Amino acid sequence: MYADIIIDITHEKLDKVFQYIIPEYLQGKLEAGMEVIVPFGRGSRETRGYVVGFSEKADYAEDKMKEILCAAEDGVAIEARLVKLAAWMHKAYGGTMIQALKTVLPIKRRERERKKRKIVCLLEEAEGYERLKFYQDKNQKARARLMAALLDERELDYGLVTKKLHITSAVIGALKEQGVLEIESERVYRNPVIYQEEHSKEISYTEQQRNAIHIFSKDYAQGKYQTYLIHGITGSGKTEVYMEMIRQAVEAGRQAIVLIPEIALTYQTVMRFYRKFGDRVSIMNSRMSAGERYDQMQRASKGDVDVMIGPRSALFTPFPDLGLIVIDEEHENSYKSEQVPRYHARETAAARAKLERASLVLGSATPSLESYYRCQTGEYRLLELTRRAGSGSLPAVYTADMRQELARGNRSIFSDMLHDKLKERLEKKEQSMLFLNRRGYAGFISCRACGYVVKCPHCDVSLSAHNNGKLICHYCGYEEKNIKVCPACGSKHIGGFKAGTQQIEELVKRDFPSARVLRMDLDTTRKKDGYEKILSAFSHEEADILIGTQMIVKGHDFPGVTLVGILAADMSLYSSDYRAGERTFQLLVQAAGRAGRGRKAGEVVIQTYSPEHYSIQTASRQDYAAFYNEEIAFRRLMGYPPAENLLAVLMTGEDARLLETAAGYLRAYAARVSGGRVEIIGPATPYVSRVSDVYRKILYLKCPKYGMLIDVKNYLEQYIQINSGFQTLKIQFDFNPMNIF
Ligand code: ADP
Ligand code: ZN
Ligand code: ZN
Repeated sequence: MYADIIIDITHEKLDKVFQYIIPEYLQGKLEAGMEVIVPFGRGSRETRGYVVGFSEKADYAEDKMKEILCAAEDGVAIEARLVKLAAWMHKAYGGTMIQALKTVLPIKRRERERKKRKIVCLLEEAEGYERLKFYQDKNQKARARLMAALLDERELDYGLVTKKLHITSAVIGALKEQGVLEIESERVYRNPVIYQEEHSKEISYTEQQRNAIHIFSKDYAQGKYQTYLIHGITGSGKTEVYMEMIRQAVEAGRQAIVLIPEIALTYQTVMRFYRKFGDRVSIMNSRMSAGERYDQMQRASKGDVDVMIGPRSALFTPFPDLGLIVIDEEHENSYKSEQVPRYHARETAAARAKLERASLVLGSATPSLESYYRCQTGEYRLLELTRRAGSGSLPAVYTADMRQELARGNRSIFSDMLHDKLKERLEKKEQSMLFLNRRGYAGFISCRACGYVVKCPHCDVSLSAHNNGKLICHYCGYEEKNIKVCPACGSKHIGGFKAGTQQIEELVKRDFPSARVLRMDLDTTRKKDGYEKILSAFSHEEADILIGTQMIVKGHDFPGVTLVGILAADMSLYSSDYRAGERTFQLLVQAAGRAGRGRKAGEVVIQTYSPEHYSIQTASRQDYAAFYNEEIAFRRLMGYPPAENLLAVLMTGEDARLLETAAGYLRAYAARVSGGRVEIIGPATPYVSRVSDVYRKILYLKCPKYGMLIDVKNYLEQYIQINSGFQTLKIQFDFNPMNIF
């Protein structure tokens, strides 16, 4: 046996792994993540390294290989624990050890010269390439050079561009004029504590809050570290409970990580933590550069920070003595990584908590089926908050059957009920929110005469009509001009059916010309701070109606809102995905939770074509337990997670025939090695069967035992490595996938 060892994990490229001989006395005693002392370099300097894996085969001649000197006795470095976590992820999710290491370890960036200004690209990739081609065709070399650089890195240092790329400020100014880029002064990290003058208001916890805190503290004081699920309706005071739990961990000299969905990482939220913990709080987000994120990680490992708040990746903060991990909105999809290793932050947090002897607290108003299921099996401890803590009561929820509206001759997007209630709100000068699960001006374009749907020639998905007169592919960015006549049958009855946020905005303005309307979707929030600006305008009551996609339902407090309209509630029910019912329930409850957060009672109108569906019914009653019972029965019946486990094998390749053959082989091999103990589904062609001329296939393996699926995955990985036929294909594993591929 040989050990694979990395020497310097803060090196920019982790790809370099060195093989060492394991001396006799250490055979069988080493494990991944252990720190060892090895001779390194020409002078065989004694150096520390980490074991990241083992191999039976020597990659070099054995006489050229060195031997491990000894295991480092004081090997309790933070990095060693993170390497162990990477080893766990590698085992649980597949992929390579290097990919796992890159996920958990903060990479050191060479310090770049700090300049004041930077240039930020405003175009999407596809638009950017089009622009690049335009400059090249016109032989505008400097512009093309700058555009190419912006395609490589979306943010460039101003000084670097002028000095190294030899681009004049006139050229930069021209591109700015054309809306290609923006010039920003280097973001100075404001320290909210300085801005904050009001003092943290004293609150006395509700009985339910006290109870939750008490159970946690008792366990914590006894060193009983476990996983808790706080199931608390929106506004029940979960965040206050997290903060008190964190305070206790910090008081015990330990540190805490708080994961929140990126979209909820707002100034408001962070301020609450600052008020409680002062500047020993740090945040991370995806808009920070790698260097900035690395700095935060450094501060954390040096002990300058007690609480790290951030999205999924903040889970890997190298705290010296991590005592608590909190995952707010634990049901969110964004906690699952879409890159190898396709880890779930909840499971990985549980693994890290175990390694560090820390507690894990999950919270949600609409827990994932997984977490609630684990409370039923006794694996997690359930803590319930059923009443709103501060002001506000639960809203009254109504459903509007859109089939009946149509039968009555109402062809508008708004049911009569929603229309009337909107009018009422405008008269009373109260705010409303309209929630739509869509993007763009109109959805797909189809022919009402023959059913033809306009699709992207590269991606096999329907194109979306935007109001600049173009049809756009949301996968690859392909565009074409909108059409007036059906290319298949010549009918003029071709157009969009489903409404988008822009269209709703237009309809609202037509029906209520005096209403002040704000719209929040991917288009209006693309620019830096667009999202924050809209939120702040709405919360300062600068608008009467906020129209938006999912973005508007995620945990914002707008006390002025007394009406929430949910348009096309069942859009998400129609996706061919086993989580469709769960996702619909979550969206509806979260959206409804936006109403009546202030002093006045709120109302919610759910517009639906399937009012009898249990997701819609239980959501309108805000009854999670009833929803769970229905949904878990369905999962059990069908063998879907969490009742059983599901492994998706995602296969992509440019050669459709080869992909088909390879998928067949993988299926046969999986069947052989699992000996009938795993159910195999497919290989199927996914809904999106081709993206940018790359074909996709998917195979699903289903089994009650997670470990069994890991075994099969290991066999498949070996099989793929040995057989050269798989070389041109990309094959990934996704355990209990959150999205349909
Ligand atoms: P959640 O995270 O469950 O949505 P929050 O912790 O954000 O709930 O609480 C909702 C609102 O109620 C906040 O404004 C918070 O300050 C307030 N709040 C929470 N607990 C109490 C309490 N015990 N007494 C008074 N106000 C409270
Ligand atoms: Zn037609
Ligand atoms: Zn496309």
